[in-house]
Amino acid sequence: MLEERESLDFDIVFIGAGPANLTAAIHLQKLVNKSKDLEAAPEIVVIDKGKNAGAHLLSGAIIDPVVLEEYFPGYVEKGCPIQTEVTRDSVCFLTEKRKYALPYLPEPFRNNGCFLVSLSRFGSWLAGMAEAEGVAVLDSTAAVEPVIDNNRLKGIITDGKGYDKEGNAGEAAEPGIEINAKTFVLGEGARGSMFRQLDRTFALSPNEEDQRYETGVKEVWQIPPGRLDAGATLHTFGYPLPSSLYGGGWLYAMSETEISLGFVTSADPGQPVVDPHYNLQLFKEHPSIRHLLAEGKLLEYGAKSITSGGYDAMPRPAGPGFLLTGETAGLVNMQRLKGIHLAMHSGILAAETLYSCLLKDDFSEASLLTYRNKLERSAIHEEMRQSRNYRQAFDQGLFKGLMRAGLSLKVPRLAPTGNTEIKEDGTLRPGSKQYRNWSKKKDSFRPDNILFFSKEANLYASGTVHEENQPCHLLIEPDSIADICTEKCTREYGNPCRHFCPAGVYAIDHNADPILRLSPSNCLHCKTCEIADPYGIITWTPPEGGGGPGYTIS
Ligand code: SF4
Repeated sequence: MLEERESLDFDIVFIGAGPANLTAAIHLQKLVNKSKDLEAAPEIVVIDKGKNAGAHLLSGAIIDPVVLEEYFPGYVEKGCPIQTEVTRDSVCFLTEKRKYALPYLPEPFRNNGCFLVSLSRFGSWLAGMAEAEGVAVLDSTAAVEPVIDNNRLKGIITDGKGYDKEGNAGEAAEPGIEINAKTFVLGEGARGSMFRQLDRTFALSPNEEDQRYETGVKEVWQIPPGRLDAGATLHTFGYPLPSSLYGGGWLYAMSETEISLGFVTSADPGQPVVDPHYNLQLFKEHPSIRHLLAEGKLLEYGAKSITSGGYDAMPRPAGPGFLLTGETAGLVNMQRLKGIHLAMHSGILAAETLYSCLLKDDFSEASLLTYRNKLERSAIHEEMRQSRNYRQAFDQGLFKGLMRAGLSLKVPRLAPTGNTEIKEDGTLRPGSKQYRNWSKKKDSFRPDNILFFSKEANLYASGTVHEENQPCHLLIEPDSIADICTEKCTREYGNPCRHFCPAGVYAIDHNADPILRLSPSNCLHCKTCEIADPYGIITWTPPEGGGGPGYTIS
């Protein structure tokens, strides 16, 4: 029987309530509210899969206030949840027991004038601003499937609710709604599921292999006063990663008694045998970090993937019926470890493009493509170009990477271009010496649930909740499970999904007949599994809207 699907029409629909789309929605609504040239007020709506705006937002986060200053005058007085200004920066190389501070910080590593924020609080504040301007913000609504008509994105299907694990409709089941709009703006963050589907149809990525991702795993701690000055920041490289793997740690003093600390690990299907959660636990073990946390208390835990391919991996930011903003448009400066200001700036340009489209009542692809011109002429492009392929410089290991990245700071043309050949020697592959050492150490890891946590214990601090009885949102073909998961992958990689998922969603029961067991209700929506799976057989899809992490201070 065909489902009866309700359908709703809007003018502009923003998919994802992150800083890019919320800034865009606020700016567009402000332009509309001031306009004397529009005949009718357009209907502008933001949808988000989180249970409230900000619930799925997580970042370090250091924010460069450049867009706030220009477009949100009086933002401090208006309650912008800035925790503190950055007061001190340091970058250190860690060995297992020691730390060595860089004596001189190049300009991109300095954060003078920047602020420390909780991105989830910041998103929630922006959502309140958007609603105050007249934008409708619909939470618990996931965009699941595009509706393409005549080679144009005409609509989207949202998540259905009330279906059981087998897909049977319960008594209160509601099929997803079809939402149609003149234009959709995708600001889904890294590796959005709607972006992935549109990329397949409209070939948005310059080259699929060029985009790359990292996994950031984060904890927020309350610590006794007197250990750190509010606003102190630390970035590290080295321990616990071997020099062949890209990644590093951060620690930000949000206040004298609250710190954000985390670890970024490369999410790479070529080197899948990594464990971002474990790397964070090891990072906390380092003598220079451990003493800061003593007698402290874990407040929140979370994870996200980070888009890191840089300038050359940026997708085409506009297509028939849609625009891309923020991280979905590839806008993260890996050299500065920042993207929020770029996301907000892209939101401003998207809003100006859409306002022109509204004035002309012209939402053709040509009209939407003026967004690309605006981006190309903006400071965003210049910043992305300057930091071009910074991440790729580290493909041949930490030390070569530091040399190349350092040189490219002085002479940008020395930055590598395109994908760098990754050498197999010394990477974390089963059988390699580094893997055996790492694996041995991991096997002996015993969480104390005071300073070091298991994934299960950490998960409690993420506020993650899903409706248990719903279809599994992690799609793997049954044939692939039989042929690859419990056979080939076990043999070749030892099932790295058990390691790289920071929520412990994947497990293998090694009985006489091995079985892959999934706990999808633990999912943190980080997408690492889809990215780092060496066989590319996992597809992450949005679960029922409202499910997922419940970040409040991340
Ligand atoms: Fe992240 Fe969820 Fe995949 Fe685990 S299952 S890696 S939490 S997206």
